[in-house]
Amino acid sequence: MNNRTYIKDLPTKKGGEVVVKAWVNSCRNQGKMIFLDFRDISGVVQGIILPGSAAIEIGGTLRDEFVVEVEAKVNERPEKQRKPDILNGDIELEVLALKVLNECSVLPFPLSEDTILINEPLRLKYRYLDLRNARMQKNLKNRFKVQNFVRNYLADENFIEVETPLLSAPTLEGSRSYVVPSRLMPGNFFSLPQSPQQYKQLLMVAGLEKYFQFARCMRDEDARGDRQPEFTQLDLEMSFVSEEEVINLNEKLLIAIVQKFYPEKKIQTIPFPRITYKEALEKYGTDRPDIRGDKNDPNLLAFLWIVDFPMFEKPEEENVDEVAEWTFTHNPFSKPKDEYMEKFMNKEDIALILTTQYDVVLNGFEIGGGSLRNYKPEALKKTFEIMGYNDERIEQNFGHMIEALKFGAPPHGGIAWGFDRLMMILENEPSIREVIPFSKTSDGKDLTMNAPSVISEKQKNELGINFTKK
Ligand code: ASP
Repeated sequence: MNNRTYIKDLPTKKGGEVVVKAWVNSCRNQGKMIFLDFRDISGVVQGIILPGSAAIEIGGTLRDEFVVEVEAKVNERPEKQRKPDILNGDIELEVLALKVLNECSVLPFPLSEDTILINEPLRLKYRYLDLRNARMQKNLKNRFKVQNFVRNYLADENFIEVETPLLSAPTLEGSRSYVVPSRLMPGNFFSLPQSPQQYKQLLMVAGLEKYFQFARCMRDEDARGDRQPEFTQLDLEMSFVSEEEVINLNEKLLIAIVQKFYPEKKIQTIPFPRITYKEALEKYGTDRPDIRGDKNDPNLLAFLWIVDFPMFEKPEEENVDEVAEWTFTHNPFSKPKDEYMEKFMNKEDIALILTTQYDVVLNGFEIGGGSLRNYKPEALKKTFEIMGYNDERIEQNFGHMIEALKFGAPPHGGIAWGFDRLMMILENEPSIREVIPFSKTSDGKDLTMNAPSVISEKQKNELGINFTKK
């Protein structure tokens, strides 16, 4: 009798004998009898060790979170003790034999109740325990279900998923890049991608036409609000498309996700309303307004597209680099709207030029953004000229992109979703840390692995790195 039965399948085994492999979810030793709850990935079931059972002695040594193998009879509970609303509420396991597969030390915090109220650094240090909690397991499972659905949905639309490099050159997403020193070329560094922007555009030049990726993005930002140094984007790019087509595909996909996995939620307006950046600022004072009719309704989803963003803005004081006259508002690869192309190419009225950028906002959070791209080499170069870069710098930083556009690059555009944020809202969680499996702290530390941390002298020497004390 070695076949394991998952706890969720026990109702089909009433009256029979089973083997269950599980954690001890809770344990109430009454001396003569022991009541237990067992938990595996599929659910929880109540168990009982009766007086005189061969298992009573080992049963007495059990504590919460011990790992056990249980041979048991699946009994129907007496009529009065049935709980019809919960899984296995009408059965219990009568334990016949018991084996401890592994013990569990004293827990740093109880796992039987929601861990959301536990001190967060403690939860993150022991994330593998925190993830045993029912809510965290639900979040991980739902994250996977949505990802899986998106993959299949986009595959049916003829997209293919492509993995792009993590070790690369700096990308421009308006933030700092993390760098990785090269041992083989001392003094040289790779950069970790802030997004796969350049690679996905190169995939369009490569003729792929429809690309997507669940992409990890790394941005070295100051700890600010609910941000993580690494996060996940659903990144996609399409050739020969209009703004309208990108917007429609994404809108349909978002609606399909909600309808399939969150039927209790209501989307406030379909099609999603669209307003210009200017209107958003005038009416709401922000470019990511929360337009929910009832902000206390946890099941209301108010999606909104923001369009017609200015293409350039004056750089903020802290970011002023030595040459920047203008900086891009979202993405240096974005194309101006057609009616502004002439001004753009003539470098006239820079502040007035509007770009094809579109952002999707949900309940006051920006959950995605994208644009059509400047796919003509001279147009892409113009953006960097307007930003005040000289030819040498343009060639050095973006020569490869401008050159690629010279080889029959199709018109293209795309978008990226902040996937963690979307999941946070759908799961009604207060922070993206609740939907990221091994989240960092809000100040960017990985407490599970104790990172960042110092490296050995040997490694420093190999990398040719010397630190000067500040
Ligand atoms: N790469 C952009 C971003 O990360 C998204 C896009 O334009 O597709 O915001």
